[in-house]
Amino acid sequence: MSTPSIPDCPHGDTHCPINKELCALREKVEQLSSQVNRDFLTGLFNRQHMNTALEQEIERTQRSLQPTSLILIDADHFKHVNDTYGHVIGDKVIVLLAEQIRASVRKIDIACRYGGEEFAVILPSTAPAMGRRVAERIRENIERNALHLEAGERLHLTASIGVASIHHSRAINAEQFLELADEQLYKAKHEGRNRVAQAPWKTDNSTVSSEEKDALFGPTSGDA
Ligand code: GH3
Ligand code: MG
Ligand code: MG
Repeated sequence: MSTPSIPDCPHGDTHCPINKELCALREKVEQLSSQVNRDFLTGLFNRQHMNTALEQEIERTQRSLQPTSLILIDADHFKHVNDTYGHVIGDKVIVLLAEQIRASVRKIDIACRYGGEEFAVILPSTAPAMGRRVAERIRENIERNALHLEAGERLHLTASIGVASIHHSRAINAEQFLELADEQLYKAKHEGRNRVAQAPWKTDNSTVSSEEKDALFGPTSGDA
């Protein structure tokens, strides 16, 4: 029987081998296109997708009153994990970190593996106060959920996190937005790790409309 997306054989052959092959190929294409945006180890979005998504969110922010927040996460002392326990455990740590990040964010948030033990989350329609809360939630979940090793040993993990947010009047590109969050990540590392640092809220225009203030701090700042 043909799948709904595959047309019937023009010759009316219900067992048409070409149609069957076409069907299998389409399924394969669908499967591959869903994988192309994903990181193989964690299943999160990959860096390439993140760059595209970030550009789209900046554009959307500039067209609307909805701010966007960006979170960068870097595991603390990860080299020590690899050196002490080996790369297989190191990879398990990366998978666990990804799970904690995924569990801490909304479905519409775009969670990515940015590099080896570095992750990014794009939070659409998210003001700075909420951006910080989500970052703290991620940090706490990582701290609370140790990796269980054989023989009952637990490997405790922490991460440092940088947060930055933009609104529609902020002229910025994806690279600059990443730099803003990365500066804060650096600060979090520098100030002792296992903490969140947040970029100061800046406006290019000194005046922010009351409508914009509502969009930034009103309805969303009190939500969990
Ligand atoms: P810091 O607290 O300053 O972030 O220290 P760190 O040790 O986490 O940071 P550093 O950048 O010095 O080391 C990151 C290490 O991550 C280096 C490399 O051994 C490891 N790494 C990078 N990618 C992977 C990966 O895919 N799998 C594993 N197992 N290790 C990786
Ligand atoms: Mg790193
Ligand atoms: Mg690190």
